[in-house]
Amino acid sequence: MKEITITIDGKKCKGFEGLTVLSIARNNGIDIPSLCYNGRVKVYGACGVCVVEMEGSPKLQRSCATVATDGAVYHTDTPRVKQARKVAFELIMSDHEGDCLPPCMLRCPANTNCQAYIKQIALGNDKEAVKIVKETNPLPASIGRVCPHPCEKDCRRQYVEEPLSIAFLKYFAADNDLFSGDTYVPEVAPDTGKRVGIIGGGPAGLTAAYFLRLAGHDVTVVDQMPHMGGMLRYGIPEYRLPKEGILQKEIDQIEKLGVTFINDYKIGRDTTFDDFRKYYDATLVAIGAWTPSSIGCPGEDAEGVYGGIDFLRGVIEGNAPDIGKNVAIVGGGNTAMDACRTSVRLGAENVYVIYRRTEAEMPAEKVEIKEAKEEGVQFKFLTNPAEIIAGPDGRVKQMKLQVMELGEPDESGRRKPVPVEGKFEILELDSVISAIGQRVDPKGMDGVALNKRGIIAADECTFRTNIPDVFAVGDATNKGASIAIEAIGEGQKAAKVIDSFLKGNEIPFSMPFLSKKDPKDIDFTQYKTEKRAEMPVREAAVRRRDFKEVNKGFDRDDAVKEALRCLECGCHDYGECELIKFAQREPELDPSRFAGEKHPRFKEQKLVCIERDQGKCMSCNLCVRVCDEEVGAGILGLVGRGFNTVIKPEFNDPKTIEKCLTCKACAEVCPTGALKIIG
Ligand code: SF4
Ligand code: SF4
Ligand code: SF4
Repeated sequence: MKEITITIDGKKCKGFEGLTVLSIARNNGIDIPSLCYNGRVKVYGACGVCVVEMEGSPKLQRSCATVATDGAVYHTDTPRVKQARKVAFELIMSDHEGDCLPPCMLRCPANTNCQAYIKQIALGNDKEAVKIVKETNPLPASIGRVCPHPCEKDCRRQYVEEPLSIAFLKYFAADNDLFSGDTYVPEVAPDTGKRVGIIGGGPAGLTAAYFLRLAGHDVTVVDQMPHMGGMLRYGIPEYRLPKEGILQKEIDQIEKLGVTFINDYKIGRDTTFDDFRKYYDATLVAIGAWTPSSIGCPGEDAEGVYGGIDFLRGVIEGNAPDIGKNVAIVGGGNTAMDACRTSVRLGAENVYVIYRRTEAEMPAEKVEIKEAKEEGVQFKFLTNPAEIIAGPDGRVKQMKLQVMELGEPDESGRRKPVPVEGKFEILELDSVISAIGQRVDPKGMDGVALNKRGIIAADECTFRTNIPDVFAVGDATNKGASIAIEAIGEGQKAAKVIDSFLKGNEIPFSMPFLSKKDPKDIDFTQYKTEKRAEMPVREAAVRRRDFKEVNKGFDRDDAVKEALRCLECGCHDYGECELIKFAQREPELDPSRFAGEKHPRFKEQKLVCIERDQGKCMSCNLCVRVCDEEVGAGILGLVGRGFNTVIKPEFNDPKTIEKCLTCKACAEVCPTGALKIIG
């Protein structure tokens, strides 16, 4: 064969006469996207994504079907080519119906692969499950206990009966691994010689430290408190998260990787921010939000009024304040639940929760509200503090409550509480705990710019502050305090950005393009209902007297049964799928521009050892051609006409599949997840 030379994107490429532009490009290391081309069968030229521009030719050419001309000059990245390729992908994706990743994973702020770890639990592989969780979250036993599990809100199983118990399954596997005597420890990359300083050892700081250390950097975490853990340690009561038994054990695992921890160290007191950051190649500010928000009513400076987080921290440090017998907690979130249930355990007889809306609008987890009620907490819904009245000794004596009613929805979508004119109640009290939120105290972070609300301003994709080499994450930034898994998600993403920055090629965080399926398009009646596993808990009358853990944990039977409820929503082919691999390279893909009629879909049908999902088929015909040309069986064919054509056994004859050789060649060549090998 005669050797020829062509130029692709300025590179001289050697090939042979008769070869296509695509083959020569790929042989020379130039990756032109193509979906319907496969060296095993004849060229078909259906997908249209491999187009190139040839100098001197007015028309774009499909590189898979164009025989290269010696000396010709081709371009794969001109504006015309890019536009044509983008349109080709948008057309394919507009007619594609599949979930690349499971909805639980997408809803988790740390993007934990719940489907994958649940599968491992179902198979009895707890360590493998923990390994998967630790790809995104280094504190699975702690988070499995305390996370309000936003993932479960998007769990598809809810359309059958109830969502999976995703968080508690994590708790189950993580505990088994933690107490196995052979806890999973990931590998640390060789030392890079770069130093990272992290201010704050809460969930965000610890997570960033973990991932930066795994990337081979020399990481130091400083924290003003005597122990690491931040809000997980000082803001969550022992009965929800045992500190020495669980949290500290997980923190020890991070330290074992070689992260340096320095406690009782405060920026602005023990060193200046400038001196601190000068020592490091990158600094991450993860200081959290530790200042309780004020109630905003007259009398709140009376003795016996405590900030929620100060109160919880005091109890955890062994310095519980004297709250007396009658306590009111103001707020409706999880901190309010922690404060009221802690007050019960401190011996208060009348513990009230003052919340200005109704139970339905309470942001606290339902299980927390239920368990607080079981422990005797009294909820005063539709009331708001109007005044805290002190006695002659200056200590809280009473609270005047304004009675409220619900008006029109506000910007949060919840109905706005409005005062009922002239209607008040009086509560006799010994103390008041304000649990209506926390603010950031950025003192000491000299020069770091704040947003209008006085919170550290950090870019949401690069986590950069206004100071070069200073990054910031977690409760101290942007929108302020949130749940621990949000902080973990940010710590993990920021670690990747900082790692790329330290390696000289900063890559901002961005979510890749993904195909998502509308649950309305799924027939959930095909699944048998199975009851969600209940977390066994200690009796309310017993647990209200101590700080021992309330949850008892799943046993293996419960956990495996629960894990088997998973519908495995994410695509089995995500790691291999050519369609999504190339689609994700296209900037700003918008298939909705072509939303319209879709090809017929039929539910997965078994074809001997293959499961077919017509929603993911892009009619590239590769499976038909390989079965015909390479295997010689000719079992598959294009059935139907025009737009309604689908791939089925030849002539739509069910008997044809009896001739299947079970060679699985069709599934091997399928560029998408439309064909799944099941046997
Ligand atoms: S076939 Fe590819 S694009 Fe479709 S859902 Fe699966 S991974 Fe995503
Ligand atoms: S059914 Fe399984 S994969 Fe699907 S959303 Fe729920 S946990 Fe995730
Ligand atoms: S099922 Fe066949 S026609 Fe459909 S995408 Fe896969 S290989 Fe192409």
